[in-house]
Amino acid sequence: MEYPIHTSLMAARPDVGCVVHTHSSAATAFAALGEPLRAISRDGVEFADPPVPVFTLTGSLIRTAELGAALADTVGDGVGALIPQHGLVTVGPDPATAVMRAVLLDRACRVQLDAIAAGPPLVQRRRDRAEEGRGMAARADPGRLPVPASPNRPVSHPRRRGETKPALIPTGRFSR
Ligand SMILES: [Zn+2]
Repeated sequence: MEYPIHTSLMAARPDVGCVVHTHSSAATAFAALGEPLRAISRDGVEFADPPVPVFTLTGSLIRTAELGAALADTVGDGVGALIPQHGLVTVGPDPATAVMRAVLLDRACRVQLDAIAAGPPLVQRRRDRAEEGRGMAARADPGRLPVPASPNRPVSHPRRRGETKPALIPTGRFSR
């Protein structure tokens, strides 16, 4: 029924020998969120950078040559695409590659859905904290030296030639 997916992609891509299309629940649900797919598992590495494209023209069945060509445009020279409310499509030079990509893309969607269900993924929280830190640094006086996290914690400096221990300069209440 959705043969235009296969014929359009193979017509557009001489390097493609196999097209896989599934209505997997993980890909269908994840694509509906509008979230970028992240490489939070090994499965997602091939689909995170560059980001796997999302076909947004329709969530209905792709039964016409026009929709098939539009999907091929979305995939471009990539390895596949997510289709919100529908599923996924992957391509490869042979069936083994295209099928493996479909399995991995589906699993990457499943892992990210699980992570989202437990809260924002840790990598996202780290990125948010880093961006927050950069924002604070930009607002700080550029001529001011950084302040240690604890005023009573000694600041260590790199060892000088011949020194057996790093030089420690006490700070906080002991230095005043
Ligand atoms: Zn379909």
